[in-house]
Amino acid sequence: MKIVTVIGARPQFIKAAVVSRAIANTEGVEEVIVHTGQHFDTNMSDVFFEEMSIPRPQYNLNINGLGHGAMTGQMLEKIEEVLIKEKPDWVLVYGDTNSTIAGALAAKKLHIKVAHVEAGLRSFNIDMPEEVNRILTDRISDVLFCPTTTAVNNLQKEGYDNIDCEVKEVGDVMQDAALFYAGKSKKPETELPSVFALCTVHRAENTDDPERLKSIFLALEEISKDTPVVLPLHPRTKGKLSAMGYDFENSNICFIDPVGYLEMVWLLSNCKFVLTDSGGLQKEAYFFSKPCITMRDETEWVELVEHGFNTLAGADKDKIIELASRINDTNLDFSLRLYGNGDAGQVIVNSLRLK
Ligand code: UDP
Repeated sequence: MKIVTVIGARPQFIKAAVVSRAIANTEGVEEVIVHTGQHFDTNMSDVFFEEMSIPRPQYNLNINGLGHGAMTGQMLEKIEEVLIKEKPDWVLVYGDTNSTIAGALAAKKLHIKVAHVEAGLRSFNIDMPEEVNRILTDRISDVLFCPTTTAVNNLQKEGYDNIDCEVKEVGDVMQDAALFYAGKSKKPETELPSVFALCTVHRAENTDDPERLKSIFLALEEISKDTPVVLPLHPRTKGKLSAMGYDFENSNICFIDPVGYLEMVWLLSNCKFVLTDSGGLQKEAYFFSKPCITMRDETEWVELVEHGFNTLAGADKDKIIELASRINDTNLDFSLRLYGNGDAGQVIVNSLRLK
């Protein structure tokens, strides 16, 4: 059986590392990796391939730095060429990026079966590019591997019982990654405060809205006076802040370059709490028993909010500061297994092999 895996962005490298390891452990399954190039610089791409031992991509499409239309269009064209040549049994796509929808669409038009890992998630905010990508990818996938019961329920509500596809709850590959890589964590080489909050900001709804971005960074500056905020800075956010004339020199925030996953795991293990607008990091905070403040108006990971592990603050400066000041009071039981047992990768591969 031949699988073509299409990946291109940071969270997909982590998810693919888990599934590629399961594929390598499974007889009779061959994997061909296509890297679209959506994230391409060393800190956002190469380091993940090296430290997580992801097999080298057979195809590097090098498509980046473009608007949504041009990026997705070029990916569609190039992935189609690869699929015509490779003739796989399955195309495997992850998450909700432009690489995800391009891979699924190219395959489907060639009548190649599509498996979507992290299917069924919804923010119910259709203005997010990720929401559009995930809804469309789900609709044309043959197998929808859901990480949570919430995701399965979302699909049922959308009528997937009447659609010719298989919906399967398998757990979350990010849980697999957290368990597998926890013991391999690496302290970043940069000097860091001994007590700190870990923060990431990169989502378009925050970076591309100057009011939201300003409000978030005013809150982070304020919080840093009490608990230093360590922030691996995404290139998109760096660009937007620089354009706003952000005073990096006199900032209280401890900005560092984007880090590899092993360093991220170290930061997660050693921080006091997490502030983020990332999907993946909300769950990782939970995997590493840290409370999380999410700087978005909604989340796909509603079970974290329901159980009190995560609180939504939007881009509301006062709310972010207030939640951070109360974070000590939280007394949470992180022993629930909301995202499976850490075997999602193998379950996915076994299930594809049996088809
Ligand atoms: N991540 C990382 N280094 C960083 C920032 C994030 O390894 O400097 C990891 C993070 O731990 C998570 C994944 O990248 O596993 C999430 O990526 P991102 O926030 O870009 O995307 P999202 O999860 O929101 O789709």
